[in-house]
Amino acid sequence: MIKQKGLLIVMSGPSGVGKGTVCKEYLSQNDNIAFSVSVTTRAPRPGETDGVEYFFRTEEEFINMRDNNGFLEHAYVHGKYYGTPRDVIEKRCAQGLDTLLDIDVQGALQVKKAMPDAVLVFLLPPSMQELEHRLRSRGTESEENVLIRLGNAVKELSFAKDYDYLIVNDTVKDSVERLSAIITAEHCRADKCEITK
Ligand code: 5GP
Repeated sequence: MIKQKGLLIVMSGPSGVGKGTVCKEYLSQNDNIAFSVSVTTRAPRPGETDGVEYFFRTEEEFINMRDNNGFLEHAYVHGKYYGTPRDVIEKRCAQGLDTLLDIDVQGALQVKKAMPDAVLVFLLPPSMQELEHRLRSRGTESEENVLIRLGNAVKELSFAKDYDYLIVNDTVKDSVERLSAIITAEHCRADKCEITK
């Protein structure tokens, strides 16, 4: 009776808020959605694998891909380039499959412009103090990078009002439940379903 369209779920939020953890947990509980692996010029962190968390590329390779219209969106974030490969997204949308993107606010707004049906979800920290604590206790960034990321967080939070949904990340469990509820509701929207015979 009903054919559901594939959703593009775009998750943003300041560095350290826990986007990666919430996305990973949601993906581990749901088989029918794939994570969009971005291209970046930043160095891999310990434990990160090329093609899993990111495609790690040189600046020259990134610019070459950008100039060949290879990105659905791209941005310069915390001093490095990041971009969403266009071909994967277009293929999955055409097949009616859901895709989850973890990208920054500049990228999310580019996606919304190119694909107005995209669902934008912003993950907020319970407080700025808690964000600073999470960022420092993660232990992956230098002091200089922590300060850059905290400065960027203030700017990013001012874009939260442009998103479709807000989730305060108190606990991973609650955030995953809320994300799940949003995706379920979006699938039930009449304008995102095709009524068949
Ligand atoms: P990290 O270096 O901590 O993995 O990510 C830094 C920031 O870049 C995060 O806010 C993340 O959401 C964002 N990001 C990751 N991939 C992309 C992408 O493809 N495009 C954009 N615009 N931002 C991205």
